[in-house]
Amino acid sequence: MAIATINPATGETLKTYEPLSDEALEDKIARAAEAFRSYRLTTPEQRVGWLRAAADVLDADADSVAELMTTEMGKTLAAAKAEVAKCAKGLRWYADHGPAYLEPERRDAEAVGATDAYVVHQPIGVILAIMPWNFPLWQAMRFAAPALMAGNVGLLKHASNVPQTALYLEEVFRKAGFPDDVFQTLLIGSGTIERVLGDDRVAAATLTGSAPAGQSVASIAGDALKKTVLELGGSDPFIVMPSADLDRAAEVAVTARCQNNGQSCIAAKRFFVHTDVAEEFTRLFAEKLGALTVGDPMDPGTKVGPLATESGRDDVERYVQDAVDKGATVVVGGRRPDGPGWYYPPTLLTGITPEMALYSEEVFGPVAALFTVDSLDEAIEIANSHPYGLGANLWSEDEEERARFIRDVASGMAFINGMVTSYPELPFGGVKQSGYGRELTELGMREFMNAKTVWIG
Ligand code: NDP
Repeated sequence: MAIATINPATGETLKTYEPLSDEALEDKIARAAEAFRSYRLTTPEQRVGWLRAAADVLDADADSVAELMTTEMGKTLAAAKAEVAKCAKGLRWYADHGPAYLEPERRDAEAVGATDAYVVHQPIGVILAIMPWNFPLWQAMRFAAPALMAGNVGLLKHASNVPQTALYLEEVFRKAGFPDDVFQTLLIGSGTIERVLGDDRVAAATLTGSAPAGQSVASIAGDALKKTVLELGGSDPFIVMPSADLDRAAEVAVTARCQNNGQSCIAAKRFFVHTDVAEEFTRLFAEKLGALTVGDPMDPGTKVGPLATESGRDDVERYVQDAVDKGATVVVGGRRPDGPGWYYPPTLLTGITPEMALYSEEVFGPVAALFTVDSLDEAIEIANSHPYGLGANLWSEDEEERARFIRDVASGMAFINGMVTSYPELPFGGVKQSGYGRELTELGMREFMNAKTVWIG
């Protein structure tokens, strides 16, 4: 894949980049390793100051970086601005809470025959972050903020279609006054990851992206016995039971499916609606989906912009066509508009059967698959039959149903009467083929730290 900015609203190539030469890559890895030698010795207070300064840089640059993201991958300008604000919040959250996670944790010294015993969390070195284009700033920032707070050093291999945002990320940390080379962007293709991750100076890797990319990175890291955190795909269930506030559930269902033009790993993709309310919910959902304005992502009136890549739209079209060929009903949408740009309308499909590819795969675009079910157990059973297990949504006022959902749904996150969202304050991650490890909070920070046991006699 070429490293280039191609505007999805027009299909126009705006800027292309040559990948780093072998020598330039070697230089960057060497500089990262050198930076770690001194950065690991900086104090938590210094890192807090730099994180806060980075948040201020983002605030100051918010309008221009939001426009850049919209130009590179098509999210609406309003969504891009919200993403910048969320990144600043995430940086400040780690500035507020990070130092406490670096404090030694005292253990029972007497029980182990010591005068003192504790666990100290220490940084492990240079971490390679392989990131996707869908939240080009936030995905990278939720790696960078805890990593830099921990005293680690980052090398970012961003998706090839967001190179300018990738370069901007390096600039944020430079402008904030972090020591040189603690966060560098590598403009490389995915074929070069093996060389970087195989390098002895690189300690570990985190990847957010598709399952095939995760398999590849996990296998390279496995050969080198290096740790990985993987945040992969999702096909989150959104279950609506009779006690739910249907209008509110339908409203949130629309946002949960169409956020980021339908390209979010934690978007609700499969909707399980109880028979008793299926007709009413389907009507409300279809009405609200059909009312969304699709168009230029720079226009403040637009709710759904183009898909990020031409191939991404082709994939979405293929999933819908395959479902229709096998008997699905298109309630709303289902046909790409004519004209330039990689637009696809919000689409609702019913009559989903296991033969359809979208039953057990992930549609990365604004296409909702609706199932009618007779019980919560049936909804959970179909939901859990999917290979992914990232987030899950339930709409119910019934305490017993909520408890059963929390106990039985196979996912890393369970949200009730609200949509799955990432918050700096809550751990984020999945189970099964959605990956392993957690991001955000102290769990995310400690994924790439050595929990060193100290025993003093
Ligand atoms: P990709 O996996 O193709 O790309 C993600 C990153 O991985 C990019 O930097 C890409 O580089 C790189 N990459 C691609 N192929 C390989 C490979 N074989 N080995 C190593 N690295 C590779 O995913 P998309 O960009 O298409 O994103 C969509 C997918 O990612 C969806 O399945 C989605 O659910 C998932 N995702 C998961 C999230 C989560 O938090 N769990 C969040 C966002 C997306 P390059 O661009 O150069 O190919």
